[in-house]
Amino acid sequence: MGIQQIEVYSVTLRYKETFRIATGASSESHNIVVKILTDDGVVGWGESSPSQRVTGETSKTVVEVLDKIAPKLLGMSPLRIEQDIELMDSIVEGNPSAKAAVDMALHDILGKTARKPLFMLMGGYRTEVLTDITLGIKSPEEMAKDAVKAVNEGFKALKVKVGVDPTEDVERIKLIRKAVGDNVDVRLDANQGWTPEQAIEVLGKLEKFNIQFAEQPVSAEDLKGLVKVRKNSAIPIMADESVHSPEDALRLIMAEAVDLMNIKLMKCGGLLRGRKIANIAEAAGIPCMIGCMGESGIGIAAGAHLAAEVKNIQYADLDSDLLLKDKLVKKGGTEVKNSMRIFPKQYGLGIEELNQKLLGKPKRIYK
Ligand SMILES: [Mg+2]
Repeated sequence: MGIQQIEVYSVTLRYKETFRIATGASSESHNIVVKILTDDGVVGWGESSPSQRVTGETSKTVVEVLDKIAPKLLGMSPLRIEQDIELMDSIVEGNPSAKAAVDMALHDILGKTARKPLFMLMGGYRTEVLTDITLGIKSPEEMAKDAVKAVNEGFKALKVKVGVDPTEDVERIKLIRKAVGDNVDVRLDANQGWTPEQAIEVLGKLEKFNIQFAEQPVSAEDLKGLVKVRKNSAIPIMADESVHSPEDALRLIMAEAVDLMNIKLMKCGGLLRGRKIANIAEAAGIPCMIGCMGESGIGIAAGAHLAAEVKNIQYADLDSDLLLKDKLVKKGGTEVKNSMRIFPKQYGLGIEELNQKLLGKPKRIYK
Protein backbone atom coordinates (compact mmCIF):
# COMPACT_ATOMS: atom_id res chain seq x y z
CA MET A 1 0.00 0.00 0.00
CA GLY A 2 1.45 3.34 -1.02
CA ILE A 3 0.54 7.02 -1.09
CA GLN A 4 -0.61 7.67 -4.66
CA GLN A 5 -1.98 11.20 -4.68
CA ILE A 6 -2.10 14.22 -2.37
CA GLU A 7 -4.57 17.07 -2.84
CA VAL A 8 -4.34 20.40 -1.05
CA TYR A 9 -7.35 22.69 -0.57
CA SER A 10 -7.55 26.19 0.86
CA VAL A 11 -10.70 27.08 2.81
CA THR A 12 -11.96 30.19 4.55
CA LEU A 13 -14.43 29.58 7.36
CA ARG A 14 -16.31 32.44 9.02
CA TYR A 15 -16.87 32.57 12.77
CA LYS A 16 -20.44 33.11 14.02
CA GLU A 17 -19.15 36.26 15.72
CA THR A 18 -15.74 37.91 16.07
CA PHE A 19 -13.72 35.81 18.49
CA ARG A 20 -11.54 37.88 20.81
CA ILE A 21 -8.72 36.74 23.08
CA ALA A 22 -5.96 38.61 24.96
CA THR A 23 -3.62 38.60 21.95
CA GLY A 24 -6.07 39.50 19.17
CA ALA A 25 -9.38 38.89 17.40
CA SER A 26 -10.47 36.79 14.42
CA SER A 27 -13.58 36.71 12.28
CA GLU A 28 -12.39 33.99 9.87
CA SER A 29 -10.24 30.90 10.01
CA HIS A 30 -7.97 30.26 7.01
CA ASN A 31 -7.39 26.53 6.90
CA ILE A 32 -5.71 24.07 4.57
CA VAL A 33 -7.28 20.67 3.94
CA VAL A 34 -5.18 17.72 2.84
CA LYS A 35 -6.62 14.67 1.08
CA ILE A 36 -4.34 11.66 0.72
CA LEU A 37 -5.30 8.83 -1.67
CA THR A 38 -3.64 5.43 -1.57
CA ASP A 39 -3.17 2.91 -4.36
CA ASP A 40 -5.63 0.68 -2.44
CA GLY A 41 -8.35 3.28 -2.93
CA VAL A 42 -8.39 4.48 0.70
CA VAL A 43 -8.83 8.22 1.24
CA GLY A 44 -7.57 10.11 4.31
CA TRP A 45 -8.51 13.63 5.38
CA GLY A 46 -6.42 16.07 7.40
CA GLU A 47 -6.53 19.76 8.21
CA SER A 48 -4.21 22.56 9.13
CA SER A 49 -5.45 25.63 11.01
CA PRO A 50 -2.30 27.70 11.38
CA SER A 51 -1.88 30.49 13.93
CA GLN A 52 0.85 32.98 13.14
CA ARG A 53 0.87 34.17 16.75
CA VAL A 54 1.54 30.69 18.10
CA THR A 55 3.71 28.84 15.54
CA GLY A 56 4.51 31.57 13.00
CA GLU A 57 2.59 29.75 10.27
CA THR A 58 -0.04 31.06 7.87
CA SER A 59 -2.18 29.28 5.28
CA LYS A 60 0.40 30.49 2.72
CA THR A 61 3.39 28.97 4.56
CA VAL A 62 1.44 25.73 5.06
CA VAL A 63 0.95 25.39 1.29
CA GLU A 64 4.64 26.23 0.70
CA VAL A 65 5.69 23.52 3.16
CA LEU A 66 3.29 21.00 1.61
CA ASP A 67 4.81 21.88 -1.80
CA LYS A 68 8.13 20.61 -0.48
CA ILE A 69 6.81 17.63 1.46
CA ALA A 70 4.01 16.17 -0.68
CA PRO A 71 6.08 15.10 -3.73
CA LYS A 72 8.45 13.16 -1.44
CA LEU A 73 5.60 11.39 0.36
CA LEU A 74 4.34 9.83 -2.89
CA GLY A 75 5.05 6.11 -2.84
CA MET A 76 5.66 6.01 0.94
CA SER A 77 3.57 3.69 3.11
CA PRO A 78 0.69 5.62 4.73
CA LEU A 79 0.62 3.12 7.61
CA ARG A 80 4.24 3.66 8.65
CA ILE A 81 3.35 7.02 10.13
CA GLU A 82 6.49 7.65 12.18
CA GLN A 83 8.65 7.02 9.10
CA ASP A 84 6.54 9.47 7.11
CA ILE A 85 6.91 12.07 9.85
CA GLU A 86 10.65 11.46 10.00
CA LEU A 87 10.77 12.11 6.26
CA MET A 88 8.76 15.35 6.63
CA ASP A 89 11.08 16.52 9.42
CA SER A 90 14.12 15.80 7.26
CA ILE A 91 12.73 18.01 4.47
CA VAL A 92 11.50 20.97 6.55
CA GLU A 93 12.08 21.81 10.20
CA GLY A 94 9.23 23.03 12.41
CA ASN A 95 5.97 24.03 10.67
CA PRO A 96 3.88 21.77 12.92
CA SER A 97 0.46 22.85 11.58
CA ALA A 98 1.40 21.85 8.03
CA LYS A 99 2.69 18.48 9.23
CA ALA A 100 -0.37 17.96 11.45
CA ALA A 101 -2.61 17.91 8.36
CA VAL A 102 -0.56 15.07 6.87
CA ASP A 103 -0.34 13.20 10.19
CA MET A 104 -4.15 13.36 10.54
CA ALA A 105 -4.79 12.09 7.04
CA LEU A 106 -2.38 9.19 7.65
CA HIS A 107 -4.17 8.30 10.91
CA ASP A 108 -7.48 8.45 9.04
CA ILE A 109 -6.10 5.97 6.49
CA LEU A 110 -4.79 3.75 9.31
CA GLY A 111 -8.27 3.52 10.88
CA LYS A 112 -9.98 2.94 7.54
CA THR A 113 -7.50 0.24 6.57
CA ALA A 114 -8.01 -1.54 9.90
CA ARG A 115 -11.78 -0.95 9.54
CA LYS A 116 -12.10 0.66 13.00
CA PRO A 117 -12.89 4.14 14.29
CA LEU A 118 -9.40 5.53 14.99
CA PHE A 119 -9.83 5.89 18.76
CA MET A 120 -10.93 2.25 19.09
CA LEU A 121 -8.05 1.01 16.99
CA MET A 122 -5.64 2.87 19.26
CA GLY A 123 -7.05 1.47 22.50
CA GLY A 124 -10.26 3.42 23.07
CA TYR A 125 -9.78 4.41 26.71
CA ARG A 126 -12.96 6.53 26.52
CA THR A 127 -15.95 6.29 24.22
CA GLU A 128 -16.95 9.94 24.55
CA VAL A 129 -15.09 13.09 25.47
CA LEU A 130 -16.37 15.98 27.58
CA THR A 131 -15.58 19.28 25.89
CA ASP A 132 -15.90 22.78 27.19
CA ILE A 133 -17.10 25.75 25.17
CA THR A 134 -15.03 28.91 25.02
CA LEU A 135 -16.33 32.36 25.87
CA GLY A 136 -14.42 35.01 23.91
CA ILE A 137 -13.59 38.33 25.51
CA LYS A 138 -16.45 40.81 25.80
CA SER A 139 -17.69 42.97 28.67
CA PRO A 140 -18.15 41.03 31.94
CA GLU A 141 -21.95 41.42 31.65
CA GLU A 142 -22.08 40.11 28.08
CA MET A 143 -19.82 37.18 28.99
CA ALA A 144 -22.12 36.26 31.88
CA LYS A 145 -25.01 36.17 29.38
CA ASP A 146 -22.98 34.02 26.98
CA ALA A 147 -22.17 31.69 29.89
CA VAL A 148 -25.84 31.19 30.74
CA LYS A 149 -26.65 30.54 27.07
CA ALA A 150 -23.90 27.91 26.86
CA VAL A 151 -25.06 26.15 30.02
CA ASN A 152 -28.65 26.16 28.70
CA GLU A 153 -27.32 24.49 25.54
CA GLY A 154 -25.97 21.69 27.75
CA PHE A 155 -22.31 22.60 28.28
CA LYS A 156 -20.88 21.42 31.59
CA ALA A 157 -17.55 23.24 31.31
CA LEU A 158 -16.77 26.82 30.32
CA LYS A 159 -13.41 28.09 29.19
CA VAL A 160 -13.32 31.79 29.88
CA LYS A 161 -10.93 34.03 27.99
CA VAL A 162 -9.26 36.64 30.20
CA GLY A 163 -5.90 38.41 30.30
CA VAL A 164 -6.90 41.90 29.21
CA ASP A 165 -7.38 43.97 32.33
CA PRO A 166 -6.83 42.43 35.79
CA THR A 167 -9.70 44.30 37.46
CA GLU A 168 -12.15 43.54 34.68
CA ASP A 169 -10.95 39.91 34.54
CA VAL A 170 -11.92 39.41 38.18
CA GLU A 171 -15.32 40.97 37.42
CA ARG A 172 -15.78 38.59 34.45
CA ILE A 173 -15.32 35.51 36.56
CA LYS A 174 -17.36 36.84 39.47
CA LEU A 175 -20.37 37.55 37.22
CA ILE A 176 -20.03 34.29 35.29
CA ARG A 177 -19.83 32.15 38.42
CA LYS A 178 -22.81 33.98 39.89
CA ALA A 179 -24.80 33.51 36.68
CA VAL A 180 -24.15 29.77 36.16
CA GLY A 181 -23.99 28.52 39.75
CA ASP A 182 -21.62 25.90 41.14
CA ASN A 183 -22.38 22.87 38.99
CA VAL A 184 -20.39 24.02 35.96
CA ASP A 185 -16.62 23.73 35.59
CA VAL A 186 -15.02 27.10 34.97
CA ARG A 187 -11.49 27.24 33.55
CA LEU A 188 -9.56 30.33 32.51
CA ASP A 189 -7.27 31.18 29.65
CA ALA A 190 -5.22 34.37 29.89
CA ASN A 191 -3.33 33.73 26.61
CA GLN A 192 -0.10 35.24 28.06
CA GLY A 193 -1.96 38.43 28.96
CA TRP A 194 -0.69 39.00 32.50
CA THR A 195 2.67 39.78 34.08
CA PRO A 196 3.64 37.26 36.78
CA GLU A 197 2.74 39.81 39.47
CA GLN A 198 -0.65 40.51 37.90
CA ALA A 199 -1.31 36.78 37.51
CA ILE A 200 -0.56 36.09 41.18
CA GLU A 201 -2.83 38.94 42.25
CA VAL A 202 -5.74 38.07 39.94
CA LEU A 203 -5.58 34.33 40.62
CA GLY A 204 -5.51 35.07 44.36
CA LYS A 205 -8.74 37.01 44.00
CA LEU A 206 -10.33 34.27 41.87
CA GLU A 207 -9.59 31.36 44.21
CA LYS A 208 -12.98 31.62 45.91
CA PHE A 209 -14.85 31.17 42.61
CA ASN A 210 -13.85 27.51 42.29
CA ILE A 211 -11.64 27.71 39.21
CA GLN A 212 -10.63 24.37 37.71
CA PHE A 213 -7.34 25.68 36.25
CA ALA A 214 -5.77 28.73 34.63
CA GLU A 215 -4.16 28.45 31.22
CA GLN A 216 -1.02 30.33 30.17
CA PRO A 217 -1.13 33.23 32.64
CA VAL A 218 2.15 34.75 31.43
CA SER A 219 4.28 35.05 28.30
CA ALA A 220 5.21 31.76 26.61
CA GLU A 221 8.95 32.45 26.96
CA ASP A 222 8.77 33.47 30.62
CA LEU A 223 9.60 30.14 32.23
CA LYS A 224 10.70 31.79 35.49
CA GLY A 225 7.47 33.76 35.60
CA LEU A 226 5.44 30.61 35.10
CA VAL A 227 7.30 28.89 37.96
CA LYS A 228 6.68 31.89 40.20
CA VAL A 229 2.97 32.03 39.39
CA ARG A 230 2.56 28.31 39.98
CA LYS A 231 4.33 28.54 43.39
CA ASN A 232 2.03 31.38 44.44
CA SER A 233 -1.30 30.19 43.06
CA ALA A 234 -3.82 27.84 44.63
CA ILE A 235 -5.41 27.49 41.18
CA PRO A 236 -3.63 24.83 39.07
CA ILE A 237 -1.59 26.30 36.19
CA MET A 238 -1.73 24.91 32.65
CA ALA A 239 0.80 25.59 29.89
CA ASP A 240 -0.49 26.22 26.38
CA GLU A 241 1.67 28.60 24.33
CA SER A 242 4.70 27.41 26.39
CA VAL A 243 4.36 23.79 25.24
CA HIS A 244 4.58 22.90 21.57
CA SER A 245 6.75 19.78 21.42
CA PRO A 246 7.64 16.77 23.58
CA GLU A 247 10.94 18.59 24.27
CA ASP A 248 9.03 21.62 25.62
CA ALA A 249 6.98 19.30 27.82
CA LEU A 250 10.15 17.86 29.33
CA ARG A 251 11.60 21.34 29.91
CA LEU A 252 8.45 22.50 31.74
CA ILE A 253 8.42 19.36 33.86
CA MET A 254 12.07 19.75 34.85
CA ALA A 255 11.47 23.39 35.80
CA GLU A 256 8.38 22.36 37.82
CA ALA A 257 6.60 25.16 35.96
CA VAL A 258 3.10 23.73 35.50
CA ASP A 259 0.40 21.44 36.86
CA LEU A 260 -1.22 20.71 33.48
CA MET A 261 -0.49 20.93 29.77
CA ASN A 262 -2.61 21.80 26.75
CA ILE A 263 -1.77 19.72 23.69
CA LYS A 264 -2.83 21.08 20.32
CA LEU A 265 -2.27 19.16 17.11
CA MET A 266 -1.41 22.45 15.40
CA LYS A 267 1.41 23.16 17.85
CA CYS A 268 2.94 19.69 18.08
CA GLY A 269 2.51 18.45 14.51
CA GLY A 270 -0.25 15.88 14.84
CA LEU A 271 -1.52 12.89 16.77
CA LEU A 272 1.74 10.97 16.90
CA ARG A 273 3.61 13.77 18.63
CA GLY A 274 0.59 14.70 20.73
CA ARG A 275 0.62 11.16 22.11
CA LYS A 276 4.30 11.59 23.04
CA ILE A 277 3.60 14.79 24.98
CA ALA A 278 0.74 13.09 26.84
CA ASN A 279 2.99 10.16 27.74
CA ILE A 280 5.88 12.32 28.95
CA ALA A 281 3.44 14.37 31.03
CA GLU A 282 1.85 11.24 32.48
CA ALA A 283 5.23 10.06 33.73
CA ALA A 284 5.49 13.33 35.66
CA GLY A 285 1.95 13.08 37.02
CA ILE A 286 0.74 15.95 34.83
CA PRO A 287 -2.69 15.54 33.21
CA CYS A 288 -3.22 17.01 29.75
CA MET A 289 -5.97 18.76 27.87
CA ILE A 290 -6.49 18.60 24.12
CA GLY A 291 -7.17 22.02 22.64
CA CYS A 292 -7.70 23.48 19.20
CA MET A 293 -7.06 26.55 17.04
CA GLY A 294 -9.66 27.28 14.34
CA GLU A 295 -10.18 23.78 12.98
CA SER A 296 -13.35 22.62 11.25
CA GLY A 297 -14.90 19.27 12.08
CA ILE A 298 -11.95 17.48 10.45
CA GLY A 299 -9.27 18.72 12.83
CA ILE A 300 -11.67 18.56 15.76
CA ALA A 301 -12.44 14.91 15.00
CA ALA A 302 -8.70 14.16 15.06
CA GLY A 303 -8.33 15.85 18.45
CA ALA A 304 -11.35 14.04 19.84
CA HIS A 305 -10.05 10.64 18.68
CA LEU A 306 -6.73 11.32 20.40
CA ALA A 307 -8.46 12.41 23.62
CA ALA A 308 -10.61 9.27 23.61
CA GLU A 309 -7.60 7.07 22.97
CA VAL A 310 -5.20 8.43 25.60
CA LYS A 311 -5.96 8.09 29.33
CA ASN A 312 -3.80 11.05 30.32
CA ILE A 313 -5.71 13.47 28.10
CA GLN A 314 -8.24 14.18 30.82
CA TYR A 315 -9.69 17.46 29.56
CA ALA A 316 -10.87 18.70 26.19
CA ASP A 317 -11.34 22.12 24.69
CA LEU A 318 -12.62 21.00 21.30
CA ASP A 319 -15.06 23.64 20.24
CA SER A 320 -13.76 25.62 17.25
CA ASP A 321 -16.12 23.89 14.80
CA LEU A 322 -18.99 25.03 17.03
CA LEU A 323 -17.78 28.64 17.00
CA LEU A 324 -17.61 28.64 13.19
CA LYS A 325 -20.63 29.59 11.12
CA ASP A 326 -19.34 27.75 8.04
CA LYS A 327 -19.55 23.98 8.51
CA LEU A 328 -17.00 22.23 6.32
CA VAL A 329 -18.00 18.74 7.52
CA LYS A 330 -21.50 18.05 6.23
CA LYS A 331 -21.77 14.48 7.46
CA GLY A 332 -19.70 12.46 9.91
CA GLY A 333 -16.91 13.55 12.23
CA THR A 334 -17.91 14.01 15.85
CA GLU A 335 -20.99 15.67 17.28
CA VAL A 336 -21.65 17.36 20.60
CA LYS A 337 -24.53 16.36 22.83
CA ASN A 338 -24.73 17.72 26.40
CA SER A 339 -21.07 18.73 26.38
CA MET A 340 -19.94 15.28 25.16
CA ARG A 341 -18.15 14.65 21.87
CA ILE A 342 -19.82 11.57 20.42
CA PHE A 343 -18.12 9.34 17.84
CA PRO A 344 -19.76 7.84 14.78
CA LYS A 345 -19.31 4.15 13.90
CA GLN A 346 -17.45 5.06 10.70
CA TYR A 347 -13.82 4.04 10.29
CA GLY A 348 -10.82 6.29 10.74
CA LEU A 349 -11.77 9.87 11.64
CA GLY A 350 -15.30 9.17 10.42
CA ILE A 351 -15.49 12.10 7.98
CA GLU A 352 -18.20 11.15 5.48
CA GLU A 353 -19.04 14.23 3.47
CA LEU A 354 -17.62 17.72 3.12
CA ASN A 355 -19.36 20.88 1.94
CA GLN A 356 -18.02 20.98 -1.62
CA LYS A 357 -18.77 24.65 -2.03
CA LEU A 358 -16.61 25.56 0.97
CA LEU A 359 -13.91 23.07 -0.02
CA GLY A 360 -13.71 24.26 -3.62
CA LYS A 361 -11.25 22.91 -6.18
CA PRO A 362 -7.82 21.64 -5.09
CA LYS A 363 -5.09 24.28 -5.03
CA ARG A 364 -2.52 21.56 -5.66
CA ILE A 365 -2.60 17.96 -6.85
CA TYR A 366 0.51 15.80 -6.44
CA LYS A 367 0.59 12.40 -8.10
MG1 LIG B 1 -4.98 28.57 25.37
